Amino acid sequence: MTTTIVEADHILLGFTAEGAPDLVENGALLVENGVVREVGDRAGLQRSHPDAGRVGGRGQVAIPGLVNAHHHVGLTPLQLGSADHPLELWFASRLALRDVPARLDTLYSAFEMVASGVTTVQHLHSRAPGGPDAVLAAAGAVIDAYREIGMRASYSFALRDQNRLVYEADEAFLERLPPDLRPAMAAYFRRFALPLAEQVAVFHALRGRYAGEDRIAIQIAPSNLHWLSDAALASAAEMAAETGAPVHMHLLETPYQRAYASKRTGGSALEHVHRFGLTGPHVTLGHGVWMTQADIDLCAGTGTRICHNCSSNFRLKSGVAPLNRFTAHGIPVALGIDEAGINDDRDMLQEMRLVLNVHREPGIDSPHPKPADILRMATEHGAATTPFGTRIGHLRPGGAADIVLLDWNRLTYPYQNPEIALLDVLVHRARRECVRTVLVAGEVIYEAGIFTRVDRPGTLADIAQRMGLPLDGAERERRQLAAAVMPHVRSFYDGYIDEAFGPPHTRPNASA
Ligand SMILES: [Zn+2]
Repeated sequence: MTTTIVEADHILLGFTAEGAPDLVENGALLVENGVVREVGDRAGLQRSHPDAGRVGGRGQVAIPGLVNAHHHVGLTPLQLGSADHPLELWFASRLALRDVPARLDTLYSAFEMVASGVTTVQHLHSRAPGGPDAVLAAAGAVIDAYREIGMRASYSFALRDQNRLVYEADEAFLERLPPDLRPAMAAYFRRFALPLAEQVAVFHALRGRYAGEDRIAIQIAPSNLHWLSDAALASAAEMAAETGAPVHMHLLETPYQRAYASKRTGGSALEHVHRFGLTGPHVTLGHGVWMTQADIDLCAGTGTRICHNCSSNFRLKSGVAPLNRFTAHGIPVALGIDEAGINDDRDMLQEMRLVLNVHREPGIDSPHPKPADILRMATEHGAATTPFGTRIGHLRPGGAADIVLLDWNRLTYPYQNPEIALLDVLVHRARRECVRTVLVAGEVIYEAGIFTRVDRPGTLADIAQRMGLPLDGAERERRQLAAAVMPHVRSFYDGYIDEAFGPPHTRPNASA
């Protein structure tokens, strides 16, 4: 048995039901076999466990590991050749992305996440080309990279069976293209045409393969309403009912998606997926920027969760999610960095600070999230969106020992008035360089800038070498295709929202 005592001047065990921080001063955690067994005083635990290893110490603050509850890729689309666009055009510009080997790609963003205090990631694998064996191999390469670095990961391979580029059938979109463009576009669609039944089989195969693993779990990601037929929505709900695996689904990310839902269903996207059973505490909706008040009520009434992807919503011109309305209705909100944060990286401390400040509505009494609310979103609420659930996101006995130790001396140097609440200082001021030690399941995976299991400089050098090669033939073709289809994608969305809801002046409640 491995026994460790984790010591810190302040330990954040978690939050009370009312959201107040549960802090222990000058305490210690007894960790056995990756699990917090006891919270006690330092001297007492040292006496009763004289042979235990010791981590942390004076001048440090311990918090539960952070959860990045919405993540897709490693090197960012910007790095790989796609500038930021409104989401619907970005799908087209991303055709140009270069290929990165899955291990290197996954490690790249894992380095960024762990170094900013993330111990658990919700990895939503959007797409991988080929048949079931190729998709399983791609999934395995991503998951193996997390196992290699020691992170906890909830992995899902996104379900998707239609409308692969714009919000209409692939065949209909091909008809819009000049004949000389059709073969290349059709060939692209064919690469990602795994039948629904085989996508479901991939999920079950992965669940079987990783069933016994402490740090890896498999969940369900119906990608988004427009990408799913009703049959696929029904399949996702069935998979959840059959296995108890939680569900993470993009929904209502942009106004175009709200218009799409109206055209398809005559009502709201959320009402539609609700009819299929895709609401409830086991369901998390990614984004939810364009929810109406009725959607928010439905979300709250069914206990459905939301993952707020603030940076992404800015970068892709999706809008500002009504976070204060979500929380006023008691909806648990997690935080996700999505494809890339505001600094084009996966810095969870930065993302928390962004969310803290974006939703400070003007006015003395108007609502705004408090630093403690933000940290609870990034821990407890993020945890609840994953299959790890209440095993993570807190440091109380019985919970996984996923712990971040912050160098408080560095964070507060040269001075910090002690009357400012600890969590206020933490959320406002913590930078990556203050992250001293990161433990997952009681194991130190990062300490003083060094990853204990993976050679970061060597891996980055491998990425530099691999990506320094010239574009291969397939990459060059996709780059040309992206540029060639872009005007057709753009014209597809001309007037799209007006068609669904009428011109703006006839929509008194357009943004409600
Ligand atoms: Zn996403």
